[in-house]
Parts: sequence; structure tokens; C-alpha cells
Amino acid sequence: KKEELKRFVATEVKTKDGKRIKVYANIALPDEAEIAIKNGAEGIGLFRTEFLFMNRSSPPSEDEQFAAYKAVLEKMEGKPVIIRTLDVGGDKNIPYLNIENELNPFLGYRAIRLCLGHRELFKTQLKALLRASVYGDLKIMFPMITTAGELKEAKSILQEAKEELKKQGIEFSEKIEIGIMIETPAAALVSDILADEVDFFSIGTNDLIQYTLAIDRTNEKVSYLYDPLNPAVLRLIKMTVENAHKKGKEVGVCGEIASDEEIVPILIGLGIDELSVNPAKVLSIKKRILDVNYEAEEDKINMYLQRANN
Ligand code: PEP
Ligand code: MG
Repeated sequence: KKEELKRFVATEVKTKDGKRIKVYANIALPDEAEIAIKNGAEGIGLFRTEFLFMNRSSPPSEDEQFAAYKAVLEKMEGKPVIIRTLDVGGDKNIPYLNIENELNPFLGYRAIRLCLGHRELFKTQLKALLRASVYGDLKIMFPMITTAGELKEAKSILQEAKEELKKQGIEFSEKIEIGIMIETPAAALVSDILADEVDFFSIGTNDLIQYTLAIDRTNEKVSYLYDPLNPAVLRLIKMTVENAHKKGKEVGVCGEIASDEEIVPILIGLGIDELSVNPAKVLSIKKRILDVNYEAEEDKINMYLQRANN
């Protein structure tokens, strides 16, 4: 079975009716890029950078971060690599940032919010990313955006980072795409506005489900309510895709559900352009896509969303 899947390593897959779907991989450590490549990932759709900041007593230097980002870009040999800026807070604590205990950490000082409050820490990461950009096709992605204002502020810090590097005479690519994760209902609801400010969206369904349904994704007592197919969640995904496509921007999904063979046809029916999956699942997801009829799935999901009664 595994051998049989190997024939899809170099395949760019399309649905039965010819809709091209890109299959990327999620990684959380640089070494995983090798597994992604071996399994035929067409790019990295989510490189989580938290590992660089965890289990230590001070933040990583610009050079240390640069080395990690460069390593992944080189391993991916020119394929797109979406690197997400620091996403801590919530359930991931970092002692040296002195994050206060919060009653609702997932609604608190987390991800882009924390980065905008630690400008130097954030700018150091952005400079490391910019420096690495000359070694491949880097795209930068901001997590947990809720407002256009946050996105503008993040972009202005990126601009400062560029200007500082220019002054230092350090080179970086001029054509780095910028994207955001859509993982709050607020972001999905204003995705028409956000689409004007970015090159792409990637839907973080792990969080989008949590925030839409008000279900703490770490609380087992309510996990039975954590339903990826809840029509409220699917409507937000559909809205995001439509708003992005109107502006000519692509949309990926990088939450766990992108690796679920039963849910993939639904995501395709909702119009998504790219799935970013567990590196070990790239080949089986490619195979699954080949069996999907996009137009039939689109009709099915539209019917379901109109008469949803669950
Ligand atoms: C998500 O929320 O779907 C996501 C991919 O981000 P994380 O799981 O790292 O919060
Ligand atoms: Mg998330």
C-alpha cells in the first residue's frame, strides 16, 4: 500500500473534474522538511516557529533563527515555504516573556497580540525571516489576526525590519508574499477587507472551530461539541474562500481537518486551493483528491449549508 502511494510523490494532483489542489505539509521542526519532501509535499503550508522559543530561558537570537529558517528553505529547493510568526500564549507559555496568568488564555495575550506587544522580539524574528528569504520561496504568515488594524501594525513592523536591514546593507528578497491565518470568526467575517491587505489566507481550523463554537480545544469535557462540520464553521470557511477569490487571492487550510480523508472532499467543495497536512499524510491525501468530484461536492455542501439543522 505504501509502495503504491509512492507513485504520487511527483504528481501535482487534480480532482476528477480537473480542479487543481496543492498539497503542502505542516512542520514544527526543520528536520521534518525532509519527510515532507520525501512524501511529495509541494511546499510547506505551515512552519510553526514556536520550537525556537520554547524550553529555554531567553529568546533565540536573530542569527539562530536565521539558520533554522534558511535550513528549511534550502531543503525545500525553491518550493513555497510559509513560515508562521510566533504563536505563543494560549496553552503555550514562555517563562522569559513573563506572561501573566489569565482566566481565559485562549482569549487573551496570544500570538500576534503578544508579538505586537513585544515589538523587538517580533522585529528580530522578522529580520531573521527576511535574511533567510534569499534562500528560497519564503512566505510570511501572521497568526490569530482579528482586525485589519493588527494586520496593518504587523506589516508596518515588517517594513521597519526591512528598512533596518537595508541600512545595514543586508540583502533580502523584494517579493516575499504576506499572508494571515484565518482562525477567528472576526477575521472570516471581515475577510473581504483583509484580502486587500495580503497575498493569501490559510484557515487555521483548529482555532476557528474553537472560537466559532466557543469550545476550548484543550478541555476534554466539551470535546464532544468540537465539530469541524458544524454549519457555522463551514459557512465561515465558505465566506472566507469567496471573499479571497473575489480579490484573486488563494486560500489554504492548515488545521488538522486538512489531513482527514473524510473531510477533504468537503473542503474541496468549499473551494479551497491548498491543503497543508501532516507530512506523513501527503501521499494519501493526494490519492484522495484524485477521487473527488469538485462540482458534485460543491453542490452537496451548498445544499447542506442551506438546510443545516444540526
Ligand atoms: C490552527 O489553529 O488550525 C492551526 C493550524 O494553528 P495551531 O494548531 O498551531 O494553533
Ligand atoms: Mg491556531
